[in-house]
Amino acid sequence: MSEYPEPSGLPDLENLASLANEMFQALPNAAPFFAGISGLQAAPNAGGHPAARPQAGVTSAPPPMTSPAVERHASAAPNYYFAENANQYPLAPIHLEQLISQVEQTAAQVSPQAFGLPGEADLRELLGENRFVTQAPAAATRPAAPDLKVPHALESHVGNYHQPQSVGSDRVAAQSLHLPGESDIQQLLAAEFSVTRFDAPASAATPAPDSRFYFLDSGAQPVFGNTLKTNVFAAEQQGFDVNAIRRDFPILAERVNGKPLVWFDNAATTHKPKVVIDRISYFYEHENSNIHRAAHELAARATDAYEGARNKVAKFINARSADDIIFVRGTTEGINLIANTFGKQRVGEGDEIIVSQLEHHANIVPWYLLAQRVGAKIRVIPVDDNGQILLDEYRKLINSRTKIISVTQVSNALGTVTPIKEIIDIGHSFGVPVIVDGAQSVSHMRVNVQALDADFFVFSGHKIFGPTGIGVVYGKAEHLQHLEPWQGGGNMIADVTFERVVFQGAPNRFEAGTGNIADAVGLGAALDYVDRVGIERIARYEHDLLDYATHRLRPIPGVRIIGTAADKASVLSFTLAGYKTEEVGAELNREGIAVRSGHHCAQPILRRFGVEATVRPSFAFYNTCEEIDLFISVVQRLASARRN
Ligand code: PMP
Repeated sequence: MSEYPEPSGLPDLENLASLANEMFQALPNAAPFFAGISGLQAAPNAGGHPAARPQAGVTSAPPPMTSPAVERHASAAPNYYFAENANQYPLAPIHLEQLISQVEQTAAQVSPQAFGLPGEADLRELLGENRFVTQAPAAATRPAAPDLKVPHALESHVGNYHQPQSVGSDRVAAQSLHLPGESDIQQLLAAEFSVTRFDAPASAATPAPDSRFYFLDSGAQPVFGNTLKTNVFAAEQQGFDVNAIRRDFPILAERVNGKPLVWFDNAATTHKPKVVIDRISYFYEHENSNIHRAAHELAARATDAYEGARNKVAKFINARSADDIIFVRGTTEGINLIANTFGKQRVGEGDEIIVSQLEHHANIVPWYLLAQRVGAKIRVIPVDDNGQILLDEYRKLINSRTKIISVTQVSNALGTVTPIKEIIDIGHSFGVPVIVDGAQSVSHMRVNVQALDADFFVFSGHKIFGPTGIGVVYGKAEHLQHLEPWQGGGNMIADVTFERVVFQGAPNRFEAGTGNIADAVGLGAALDYVDRVGIERIARYEHDLLDYATHRLRPIPGVRIIGTAADKASVLSFTLAGYKTEEVGAELNREGIAVRSGHHCAQPILRRFGVEATVRPSFAFYNTCEEIDLFISVVQRLASARRN
């Protein structure tokens, strides 16, 4: 901390920047830092990591651990880490205390308020009671992170800087006193802060159902349902700031073929917000260890982070317990797990498995393999000409031989949202369990596995703004506890001899070997992010995007839209007469627009419509109407080139 060079005795720019950094460190979103500011000091980690529990054979708790890493941990911690683990790494507000005491000492000489600038009282108010992040309570009783109000106060000081600051008749520039000027503070509030409501809860563990991170504070709800672009923008004005969201995704600034990237391949995979990227880096920089089996600090951190992610998943889909959440590589592995455990247990010779015509290959092939193995049969629910499930036909398929029903909630090839609740209820009325492929639904709509009463629900992290290589199987406890493991190895056993192996309970018994720890943690960060933006708002905005794109695409000569269900999510599948789908894809790519062209790993449903491939733009909440306009202009150009 620098000395005060000016006779005014007021804090200088570095001091205030340090103070600001300290506040921003406590906020839920990344904040701009002044260059040259060292960051926070870390208090010694007095009690060691609370999760560093004694292992079997260790008679007493491990001694308290301190290490240079702990200090780095505190100083470099991303903001979201503060919310989650503040109790583990107490931060000492040493800079702040020094700053306040120096302001106190000099208050008699110069009154900061005389300059209309923040004084001691303001500083205290700025930080409120929440400036201390106190000693760690036990993990089970961790409080929610404090609801910091600081930046509102800071904003009011920005207001002060807008007023002419004067002493006597002379206007005094703040900078001449080595204080931050308006532009400095505006800079502090720029970017994230211009779009972030500071009164949003800082706790990642308790996301507000109606997060205001990206929305105006008016409480006004966007008016949706109209397909006109102007109305989409009206919706934006009423709260949804897509430009702010786009800034969270670094890759959206990428250029392709000299053009700004337009990512319309979200059904294949989604991009990752910076908080997810940072969270994974943070894991490898500060927490990396194998989990569950060591008494050392990093094992405890890694275990905490991994199990914390499991809790986030459980909360996100409203599972009854984190024990009902199994981490897998993705939807494909998840369905294979279910087929090889639950399926193997239930399905025998002459039995039937029902899937729908809409399924992705990942929800066909594992059942095919099982059916081949045991001599069972696959029955298929047909769809109508719009791509909608025919519920009456479905009912007719169920009989006493039906052992499993497995259906997608959203079709990746057509975008159809299936009536999954009815499908589950009908299945259950016949006593048949229902598995839901949630790969395409979970990022577009609120999923509540208990309300759905799904027996299993599966999804992939990479389709919900999380990393690749991590996914989730939710299973009802009543099923999981009776299932044999499907893979054997470390991590899933309680005891092993050559004669007898005792397995762990769920979920560990289904997670043999070292899992994808870092990416599970990244998935947790992605779900926090989606929670902060608000899944209902995401759904409404994407719905408008889809309406707009459909409206503009349909009239183009030669365009055939495949999949015209009344309820669709973010996918537009089409063919263009005179062009192979890959030609359309290549032309779009020349303009920097990424779409999928091909069979989308869903050949049966495309063949139902007499095609082998389609062009498939698929949208996420970071896409815009301008991007759709660009896409439309390319399709129009191709369409008219063919006519000439
Ligand atoms: N089901 C559906 C509906 C999908 O869209 C996908 C991915 N395209 C999958 C399953 C398979 O997901 P993953 O490749 O992540 O395992």
